[in-house]
Amino acid sequence: MKFSSIIGQEAVKQRLRTSILENRLAHTQLFLGPEGSGSLALAIALAQYVNCPDRTPEDSCGKCPSCLKYEKYAHPDLHFFFPTTTNDSVKKEPMSALFLKEWRDFLENNQAYVRQEDWYNHLGVGNKQGTIYVRDASDLIEKMVLKSYESEYKVVILWMPEKLHESASNKLLKTFEEPSEKTLIILVAERYELLLATVRSRAQLVKINKLDDAEIAAALVEQNKTTDSAFAQDLAILSNGNWNMALENLDGEVDSEDDFLKFRQWLRYCFKPGNYLELNKFNTSLTRIGRENQKRFLQYGLESVHNSILQNHQQGAKIKKAGEELDFSQKFAPYINEANQTQMYQLFNEAVYHIERNANPAILFTDLSFKIINLLRMGRNELASTR
Ligand SMILES: [Zn+2]
Repeated sequence: MKFSSIIGQEAVKQRLRTSILENRLAHTQLFLGPEGSGSLALAIALAQYVNCPDRTPEDSCGKCPSCLKYEKYAHPDLHFFFPTTTNDSVKKEPMSALFLKEWRDFLENNQAYVRQEDWYNHLGVGNKQGTIYVRDASDLIEKMVLKSYESEYKVVILWMPEKLHESASNKLLKTFEEPSEKTLIILVAERYELLLATVRSRAQLVKINKLDDAEIAAALVEQNKTTDSAFAQDLAILSNGNWNMALENLDGEVDSEDDFLKFRQWLRYCFKPGNYLELNKFNTSLTRIGRENQKRFLQYGLESVHNSILQNHQQGAKIKKAGEELDFSQKFAPYINEANQTQMYQLFNEAVYHIERNANPAILFTDLSFKIINLLRMGRNELASTR
């Protein structure tokens, strides 16, 4: 991970680079930053930078053998420790060393912007909390004794020291205080108040702030998460400086893509009512997606009717859609007109109302589709008579 891959945090990056270039790198550091600030990514970037023989004053090269291994989170002199717990594959005595593959996949999937709950989900353990055990501490100390394989610095990155078991942290105090030669230990924490005072006092604190809205908005666009910069700003505002939360909010938008695809398919069946069998199958699948999703599907219908009315009143510029969705919106609009728009609107509104009140979805969607078929017919007749 290069510094340039990390969102914002320019002041911290500069401070870290300077500490290396001026040869005053603290050997045990505590990176303290809130969730979604990128503190783990920064720790990895620092370690990669320290060990890159071709680094510039700005960044690691990203291309040398050392950087390539770091980019895969799999350098022989890079040691990760993190909370673990038993799961389906490790049924007893869990420790970080038993989960390295899962851990690297997890980092890879999230570009090292990780959250505890996501890690536990990745391990398939639901609400179970992890611990960093005394076994991990022994393993860490053993790794410190070994000579480094190929780089100048051995690096230990310990994520979530809040989760150190007391026996583990006692065992590590001396190591934190005096790591072996050419060793860099980075503790990556979120909550200072949960750290043992003995741990706090042995590490140099590097405070990492939450991200600015502008940094999140810019990153959403740069990483091609969206091309709509106004939308990116809205997401950033909802995300409280937390990149993970921004992605989660964005996912809500990705789901609405699913709603679009479902709704378009459903409408195609309603337009060709000769094929009741297909429509019926589709309605049955709608009964299985759960009430929240059913509601969203219906709200998408409501939104489509609304957009059609905008389109028909020369206000298409207000429609916040792009690509296929916009295309669909424009094609659908002529069929929503004086003959049916009010009833169409009411129909979707009522359906949402009934879903919220636990209506039987099988009956609701069947009833709804027959009414839609009729309303579409009325809209089509109206369209024909005005052309
Ligand atoms: Zn390099």
